[in-house]
Amino acid sequence: MPPFLDWPLLNDPVSAAIVAVVVGLCVGSFLNVVIYRLPKMMQRDWEQQCAELRAELRNEPLPEESAAPYNLIVPRSACPACQRRITALENIPVVSWLFLRGKCSQCGVRISIRYPLIELLGGLLAGLAFWFFGPSWQALAACILLWTLLALTFIDADTQLLPDDLTLPLLWAGLLVNLFGVFTTLPHAVIGAMAGYLSLWLVYWAFKLLRNKEGMGYGDFKLLAALGAWLGWPMLIPIVLLSSLVGALVGGGLILFRGRDHRVPMPFGPFLAVAGAVALFFGPTITRWLHLPY
Ligand SMILES: [Zn+2]
Repeated sequence: MPPFLDWPLLNDPVSAAIVAVVVGLCVGSFLNVVIYRLPKMMQRDWEQQCAELRAELRNEPLPEESAAPYNLIVPRSACPACQRRITALENIPVVSWLFLRGKCSQCGVRISIRYPLIELLGGLLAGLAFWFFGPSWQALAACILLWTLLALTFIDADTQLLPDDLTLPLLWAGLLVNLFGVFTTLPHAVIGAMAGYLSLWLVYWAFKLLRNKEGMGYGDFKLLAALGAWLGWPMLIPIVLLSSLVGALVGGGLILFRGRDHRVPMPFGPFLAVAGAVALFFGPTITRWLHLPY
């Protein structure tokens, strides 16, 4: 690995953590767009494919694609109620939301507290990574992992989807960083990716064959494969233990105290993501504590 960026602000751990928080707040603002738009982009894609297939089966001319582009950049963010464009001044992470008191400046419709919360999490996680790992490539890579996990957590909670557009690049990125041994050795990373996918795939099919129930989706396998690629196969054990334990506690709690229907599937991705983030920081401590191989 080449030496980390030799910028004055990044030389000192404290100032590097502060820079990371500021950059993380802005990334968090972009993650809000990803969380909101990526599932809608996937939906539009599927609808277009279905329309094309329908036309093909009926020998009709293919439907035209919608002219208005819709992606992560275009159109510019607007108030969902009154369509007022959000100005640059209203787009400052957290500060703008506080200044607007959580309301659209034109129509007064409430802006969810989730937006500043995700921005704040983006900033805090980045600051934590730089504080924990010190100014290094490892800290920068950790930020990329944590930001992607943050987006996946909220997308899965909202839509029960873990988009391939996020899980697969995350997997490749994990293999790439460990080509340089950033978090683990390359053999540990490759085995981690394979074992992560296969272990949940086996659980899925065992459940399906024995009880005719689907407890997870393929997105969960890909996410665990990505975590295996980033952190190495030994970390899969604490990640699976932790996510199942917390998932069972939260699921049980929701059924008991909030009257949630136990037949409604609960997204597993957020628990995997949180367990992955915990393993990134405390994995070696946990494996030593549980006497697991590392
Ligand atoms: Zn408005």
